[in-house]
Amino acid sequence: MTSTNRKIDHLRRQIPGFACEPGCHDCCGPVTASSEEMACLPHKSVAEHDAALAHWNCVHLGPNGCEAYEQRPLICRLFGTTASLPCPRGRGPETPTAPEVEKQVHQLIASTRQVLV
Ligand code: SF4
Ligand code: SF4
Repeated sequence: MTSTNRKIDHLRRQIPGFACEPGCHDCCGPVTASSEEMACLPHKSVAEHDAALAHWNCVHLGPNGCEAYEQRPLICRLFGTTASLPCPRGRGPETPTAPEVEKQVHQLIASTRQVLV
C-alpha cells in the first residue's frame, strides 16, 4: 500500500456516514479523484463515460444510486458532512467531519493528480 493509499484509507475512516433521503442522488455528478481512488473503482468504457457526461452524470450512478458506494471517492464521502459542502436536502451526520480532516481531504486532493471519475 502506498502512502497516498494509507492517507486515503485513514481519511475515509474519519468521515462520518449518514443516511441520505431514500432514492436521492441530487449531489452526484461528474467528480474527480486521484489515480489511487480510481484504481478501486469499477472499470468503465469510454462509451459509458461519454454517455454519462452527455447527461452531466457520474458514470457510477445507476437507477438505484451509486453503484460503487463502498469505493466512492473522498469528495463524495465529504459531501453533506461539512458546513462548506452542505446537503441541499438538509441531511448529514450528527457530528460533522472535523475541520482538520476536511482540510486534510482538500490538501490530498490538491496534492494528487485528479482525473474525471
Ligand atoms: S447528500 Fe443529500 S443531496 Fe446528496 S444524495 Fe444524500 S440526501 Fe441527496
Ligand atoms: S462515485 Fe457514486 S457517490 Fe460519487 S458522484 Fe459518482 S455515483 Fe455519486
